Amino acid sequence: MENYTKEDYINKKVNLHIHTIYSDGEANPVNIVKQAKENGYKKIAICDHNTIEAHKIIKDEILIPAVEFDVWCGYVFMHLLAYNIDINNKELLSFCAKSKKETELDIVRIFAKRDIKKLIKAIHNAGGIAVLAHPACCWAVNLERFVKKLISYGLDGLEVYYPYKRHRGIIKFHKAVTVEKIADKYNLIKTGGTDLHKAILD
Ligand SMILES: [Zn+2]
Ligand SMILES: [Zn+2]
Repeated sequence: MENYTKEDYINKKVNLHIHTIYSDGEANPVNIVKQAKENGYKKIAICDHNTIEAHKIIKDEILIPAVEFDVWCGYVFMHLLAYNIDINNKELLSFCAKSKKETELDIVRIFAKRDIKKLIKAIHNAGGIAVLAHPACCWAVNLERFVKKLISYGLDGLEVYYPYKRHRGIIKFHKAVTVEKIADKYNLIKTGGTDLHKAILD
């Protein structure tokens, strides 16, 4: 996947974290792609929780096929973004939600039984890259040590450009600048997005 710059994210040319009605978002995927084109975006990614359903509805040059998985890594519950995946890959599909509730409700999603090592391997086998979502929200005590562990499992990137103003408010355990430093230190791909849950792409 192309490495976009900080400016691309700040200037609203790239947004690689968008939810739709296929998880807990309000946007229709077709409409989001339309808005992205009208607003002059270079690239967007729809990454619904544990599902690729939106990508069955629309495929477009501007749109990266993606998904955001709920997964535990030891005692840490985390969100793992997968970009540029083959949405027909059976192995990866076996990690996707079995019910609509698994794409929406936190209370259901926190019981995710995915194996982090197998999940990252499946993402790679599906041609994709694995990126830790909103790392500053990650409740690992030592973020750098945690990221190093994920790298040993094959992690490719960190979501560095993220507003940390989620639809439920701000939950932060680490500084955003710490996240960027770790990404640079370990040569990780730096991605970004707004974690959009609304219908309007801003
Ligand atoms: Zn998330
Ligand atoms: Zn998200």
